[in-house]
Formats: sequence, structure tokens, C-alpha cells
Amino acid sequence: MEARIILTHDCNYNCDFCHGEGWFKKKGVFIENTKLFFLIKVLTKWELTNVTLSGGEPLLHPNIGDIINFVHNQNIKVSLVTNGSLVNENGGVLEKVDLINYSIHTMDKNKYLKNSEQRYDLVQAFWNLSGLIDRYPEKDIRVNIIIDRFLIQNIEMCLYKLKRANKIKLIERFPCRDKELSIEFVRDKLKGMGFIEVETQMKRRKIVLTNGMHTIYLTRVFCAQLENLHLKQTYCMENNEINISPEFIIKKCRYSNGVNISSLLEKKEDSKLNEIIGDTINLKEVKCLHE
Ligand code: SF4
Repeated sequence: MEARIILTHDCNYNCDFCHGEGWFKKKGVFIENTKLFFLIKVLTKWELTNVTLSGGEPLLHPNIGDIINFVHNQNIKVSLVTNGSLVNENGGVLEKVDLINYSIHTMDKNKYLKNSEQRYDLVQAFWNLSGLIDRYPEKDIRVNIIIDRFLIQNIEMCLYKLKRANKIKLIERFPCRDKELSIEFVRDKLKGMGFIEVETQMKRRKIVLTNGMHTIYLTRVFCAQLENLHLKQTYCMENNEINISPEFIIKKCRYSNGVNISSLLEKKEDSKLNEIIGDTINLKEVKCLHE
């Protein structure tokens, strides 16, 4: 089982497409360590194998290092989703992270500046990425980029600029009304450039291609497949993830209703907690609320 934990909704960027992981984005809230650590202990009994720390920008959390170390010490794989702006300042805390999802979002330098509210530019994003790869050559680092018109028109140049990143995730925004921004369009374009499609276990969510230098994962944002009704049920059944907000609201997916478990964590009421966790996990068998 996987848990996606939002450490804070705060971010030092302001991207126009930010979905905030489907939460109402209350600012200035940072997840509390004591409650979080108790919750993770409870979740380990539910065969928790992976934790994704996300945000907002998770590296803004003042106790990010303690959180990463705690999760790692439970023998749980740690993934981090970051915009990369703070990876140099927080270099040491990333030691125990198994997978870093480094979101560049756009390769268009003007759009990038706008997303960061002029605080960071694309050159710095590449510089930080390069520093990260130098520091952790063995680590699984994946670059996330949203498929936009700039990428489609300049795909060869974009991949050249990303030559040090061997794993790249190109993301179709949902709902995608423009065929030229779809993962199928990008797949055909990459095939025309000599990429070969690779078999994957996650066919419904991802298309994987490689040219020996880059492995490219083409994916839709979470739940995008739900537009396709005949895939919906299978997709939901496959989704073995729960989501947790900084306020300790727990829910199955972006579209399900959540339950606030903060006071149960405070009182360490594990039996009620386990009941709610069980109900949340089993929601995958109920019809999708987004229908
Ligand atoms: S960097 Fe990520 S979390 Fe921050 S505003 Fe952009 S999309 Fe949202």
C-alpha cells in the first residue's frame, strides 16, 4: 500500500495549473511530526510499502529531514516530489530518499519565470538538477514536465537540454481537449525520433519509450483515465493509495470525501483509526465519486 502525504500546501511557486493534489489549499499549515509518526506506525500494519512526500513544496517543511529519516527507518520507500528550488539548501536531507520526482513543469523560460513568480529561472532549475545528479549519481531521479505547446514544438532541443536526466516523465494535463498535447501524440512524435516503446505493467496509466539515453514515461495526471468509463473500474481497483493532508484528513483519491483523524492521532486511538483506514482503503471497490 502507498501513502501520499502532503506536508504543507505552502509553495514558493504559483503555477497556474497547480491542482494542489486535490486539496483545499490552506496556507501556513505544516504537518505535525508526532501525529505523523504515530500514523505511519499504524499504517505499517496495513502493509505500507511506499510513502510519497509532496506539497506544496515539501522541502519548506522545517522538519523535513526528521520526517524522511523516520519513514526510511521503518523500511518504507521514500519518494519526494519537489520543484527543485531548495534542493541545494536541503542537500543533506535527501540522502535517505529513494526516488526524487523533480518537477520542472515547463521548458518555456518565460512560463517558468511566471510560475516561480520571478524567484527562480529555468537555468537555475537545470543547475540544481545537475548538482543533484552529481551528488547522488546512484539515486533514482525523475524529471516531471507538463506537456505544453513549447515542449511539442521544441522536443529535440528540450531533450538535449535534459541530457543528464535519464528518466523523464511527460504529463498530459487532464482533461486534455487538444490532441496535440496528448500522450499518444507525444508517443508518435518520439517514435518518429527513433524512440522504441517498451512493455510496461502499468499500461493503463503509462506509455514508456526509450532511445538508450532517455527513458520517457508518458502519463496522465492522477485520475485522468477516469474520463474513459470502461477503464474506470479497473483503474480504481488497481489504485492502492491513500492520501493524507497536513491537517490529517485522510482520503482515497482526489475525488473521494475525507475524514479528519487529527484528534484520533492526538489521543492515539488506534482501533478507530484502523477502522477509518480500512474504510478508506476499501473505497476502491465503491463507484467513483467523480462519475
Ligand atoms: S511547484 Fe508544484 S506545488 Fe508549487 S505551485 Fe507549482 S505545481 Fe503547485
